[in-house]
Amino acid sequence: MTKMPKDMIDVLIVGAGFAGLRALYTLRKEGLNCRVIEASDEVGGVWNYNRYPGARCDVESYDYSYGFSKELEQEWRWTERYAQQSEILDYIRHVADKFELRKDIEFSTRLESATYNEAAANWTVTTSRGGPITARFVVMAVGQLSKPKKPDFPGEAHFQGEVYHSALWPRHPVDFIGKRVGIIGTGSSGVQMTPVIAEKAAHLCVFQRTANYSIPACHAHISDAEDAAIKADYPARREQARNSPSGLGFIPNKKSLLEDPPDVREQVLERAWNRLGFGFALAYHDILLNEEANDRVVEFVHRKIAEKVHDPVVREKLTPRGFPFGAMRPSVDHRFYEAFNRDNVELVDIKEHPIVEFTANGIRTKAGEYPLDMIIFATGFDVFTGSILAPAIIGRGGVTLREKWSDGPANYLGLSTTGFPNLFIMVGPGSPSLLSNVLVSTEDHADFIRDMITDMNARDLDEVEARPDAEQKWVQHVNERSQETLYPKARSYYMGDEVPGKPHVFMPYSGGVRGYRRILHKVMENQWEGFDMRKVNAPD
Ligand code: NAP
Repeated sequence: MTKMPKDMIDVLIVGAGFAGLRALYTLRKEGLNCRVIEASDEVGGVWNYNRYPGARCDVESYDYSYGFSKELEQEWRWTERYAQQSEILDYIRHVADKFELRKDIEFSTRLESATYNEAAANWTVTTSRGGPITARFVVMAVGQLSKPKKPDFPGEAHFQGEVYHSALWPRHPVDFIGKRVGIIGTGSSGVQMTPVIAEKAAHLCVFQRTANYSIPACHAHISDAEDAAIKADYPARREQARNSPSGLGFIPNKKSLLEDPPDVREQVLERAWNRLGFGFALAYHDILLNEEANDRVVEFVHRKIAEKVHDPVVREKLTPRGFPFGAMRPSVDHRFYEAFNRDNVELVDIKEHPIVEFTANGIRTKAGEYPLDMIIFATGFDVFTGSILAPAIIGRGGVTLREKWSDGPANYLGLSTTGFPNLFIMVGPGSPSLLSNVLVSTEDHADFIRDMITDMNARDLDEVEARPDAEQKWVQHVNERSQETLYPKARSYYMGDEVPGKPHVFMPYSGGVRGYRRILHKVMENQWEGFDMRKVNAPD
């Protein structure tokens, strides 16, 4: 192995969320000298920041958890089918403590720049605390939903009330009692907080630009018997999740929706609607692939919304139109639609009457002024690339990652990008990422990076880089797979549409986590096919 100067570490991991902690655990176990830098003063990533009322995971608790430790699996007791934010954060804290991960984490430290030293095959990193840190490898574990997006509305500084963002929620309790509250945004965050805040606020205005689809979560407490049954056969559950396309454990119905007569189809959809959460989209294998099949699902969900919302005008406004079901990430809700039957909840259509400005007393749209004591931005994120591109990442020849990705996040396997050797990206664009239970690919990525670095060390190599032809082919493959689906038929963050001026390309890999893992294994078996590995530093 190349001899390291004293002040150099093997791996710098950026971010102490699920991905960063798994990478730290796994790489440190191999004897690598690792350090994590984390901008917050706590572990948890998104689950540390998104503390808004009603925040929960849309993936079932037993699957949205690590599979690397049997002891951890057995000792942790999830209380609900879909865990609340606080329980997930407790779990991540428990993991950090149990495996003594905190000692290698520098908290309150934000990555500012990383510059590749071509002659030495390493990275020089500066942080908000200074630096430099020299690391052979950098692992970006910064999350896909970690750069909050807060649109600028004229007059915001004049508003006299409280202002919050769902993804920058304070740790102190926020009191809604007796207040007039406005929520801007009806994505998953807005959908989750609406019914909870509706129960407390004097009046709630939900400012909606685009109506999206939402599936009932079907929350449930986990009994001791259920917990014991799952834990008795946890490996089988993990295997099922890993081998399902979504990583959620749902094995899609092999049938086309169009094969079934309408009455049977209705029963199948009804069962899935009432039990499966996200699995509803897999009630038939072609719901996200075939427009005609999708149209039938659209009709079904429109009927469901109609059954729930009493007022015909509000009902129509809440009914998504103009894009296929699931093409924009659906929400999973707990009585979101029903909240609009309350006297204290008002839907404000800001597509028809856009927001003009914030005033001292509230929000003025083209239809008039809405007096408010509190405004909550549930306006989402600069998804997939926002946090990766926030620091200056400077690769070969002084080219920044921002420059390289100006037309879209070209990468190989979602893990690596040509011109930026020894830099790995976890669960980012080009990998199944947000199209799946992200925990599955998180663990796959950490293991892949471990195996690659271990192999390089064994062979005394110090530089790895995605080959340009492999990257080009992967980008093409990601695009081709997306064209087999209905995802490109909506304006969504999957397509980079959430931020004006962002490249309009399909960001995640839609080939499924099972297929993706097979590709990773093949790459490994074929001696890291698509990567160049080199010896740069002269031997001592
Ligand atoms: P989001 O899905 O991107 O939704 C943002 C909302 O804000 C949309 O309704 C959007 O309307 C609106 N908006 C954005 N900019 C606006 C503007 N300038 N004016 C008016 N409205 C504006 O963000 P999110 O709800 O935070 O959710 C993001 C993702 O986080 C989810 O898709 C999910 O992957 C994840 N998440 C997961 C959970 C969970 O697991 N339970 C919970 C929350 C979030 P337009 O559609 O018109 O742009």
